[in-house]
Amino acid sequence: MKLTFIPFKFNISNNKKNLEHNTQNSYVSNNIERNNISSYNNTEFNGLSNNYFKAKNYLAEAKKDFDDVNNIEIYDLDLNKLDGIQEGIKVFKGLNMKEIAFIGSTINEVAINRGCHNICSHCYAGANPPIREDNKHINKMSWNDFKTLTDGFKELNNRLGFPITRDTMDDDPYMTSFHDADCIDIKLKNNEGNEHDFIDIALRLNDAFGKPQIFDTAGWSPNDKKAQARAEKYAEYYSDPEHFDEISDFNVSINPYHALHTREVMLKKDGNIEKAEKFRDLYTTRMANVLFTFTPLLDNPKFNFIARAADNSSKGTEGFKEEDLRNIYDEIFNKLEKRYQDDFNGEQNIIADKQEIKQNIYSYKRLLGHVNTNPSISERLNKIYSPDNSEVKKTDIIIAKSRENVMSAKNIHNILNGETIKLNAYETAHPNYAGLIDSNGKYYITNYYTTYPTELQLNFENKDKQTAPIHPYLNEDLPIKKTLINSL
Ligand code: SF4
Repeated sequence: MKLTFIPFKFNISNNKKNLEHNTQNSYVSNNIERNNISSYNNTEFNGLSNNYFKAKNYLAEAKKDFDDVNNIEIYDLDLNKLDGIQEGIKVFKGLNMKEIAFIGSTINEVAINRGCHNICSHCYAGANPPIREDNKHINKMSWNDFKTLTDGFKELNNRLGFPITRDTMDDDPYMTSFHDADCIDIKLKNNEGNEHDFIDIALRLNDAFGKPQIFDTAGWSPNDKKAQARAEKYAEYYSDPEHFDEISDFNVSINPYHALHTREVMLKKDGNIEKAEKFRDLYTTRMANVLFTFTPLLDNPKFNFIARAADNSSKGTEGFKEEDLRNIYDEIFNKLEKRYQDDFNGEQNIIADKQEIKQNIYSYKRLLGHVNTNPSISERLNKIYSPDNSEVKKTDIIIAKSRENVMSAKNIHNILNGETIKLNAYETAHPNYAGLIDSNGKYYITNYYTTYPTELQLNFENKDKQTAPIHPYLNEDLPIKKTLINSL
């Protein structure tokens, strides 16, 4: 899961003639051409009404006012007059164009799979292992719903002539196929029982939303043969320059907050050194295998690391500091070197020339050089850090309260209307709000500190099924109501 910053921009201004906009987000779906993804079978045309034709005519007329249709954004149009253009598209049944535009302009995460086995202590999404599925609960999107979603957005974009997600001011557009899941686990089975993995899902999402996806993993157990096979496939696929642009980033997370290392720290605190060392060994062996497997990706400029740890001088964070992380790195690199040497002396799957061992380790050390020492303090981490560390707790409470104020329903209204509200310096610099579609189609807005339910839900076959609670800090008392969305 990536903690990231999304400019939440409702473009109330327009881009009509004589205004300059870049054209980087023009709606060109390379993925369709390259991968020939079939689509458009989730629309219901049982006779289109006058509303549809009125909206279509309005759109055709409105486009004449623009010098370059490649610059149109959804909020440049009169959404009342455009209402009806979505008619017959199954996923939008029950939603009007203002509500669809709200989703289209804020969507950043599609929760394909819910839940994660890594249970990192710093996980802002508070991920727990997937819940058990039964006739009332789901832990992933159904294939039908995934197709309904992607087909529906593709169809709408085609009718509009531009992606509804387009933000001409966003120079680094991306989306994620997860909220609280690790990408190595993202996969869906279709109705015939065939598995669609991350590559396929990411291509379909790119195609539907016009934005490249992020791949994030905190690793997998080397004993998990299926995950290992998927990782090797991804390493081969994304090391091919032809596929570099299909993703925005390919990130590996190495940090002291992974459950295995968190367990080590807790066991050491309890004086159980022997067991603690076993957990440390499990973690460093696991991550050495991740680096070994992903070695072909070292030539991909999108290949990156997410390294977070507490500042060395912070109190009450023993075991989670940058110096602790650097010790972990040293052990991982020693194990990685051994894996490389064994490979060179054996099958030579990764290392064909002994010189590559040094070069690869040097490249990894360079990529892992920077450590972010300002990690998010999650609900979970707050309980794990030393209980007498009042400094950490106080900071967290201040941050949470400050976010609470900013994201109150009233202030959301103000933000969306472009009114000035009193933001502190951090909030001004990081206007980071994003929308997420849960596996049952429910729509949320999160600022990564507090999450707000909306009254919007996509028309999924599993819309009545329950999922695990959304974190962080779900505030059910301040839902974003349809009346607010329709007043924008
Ligand atoms: S890998 Fe860690 S940070 Fe990412 S979703 Fe899983 S538990 Fe959260």
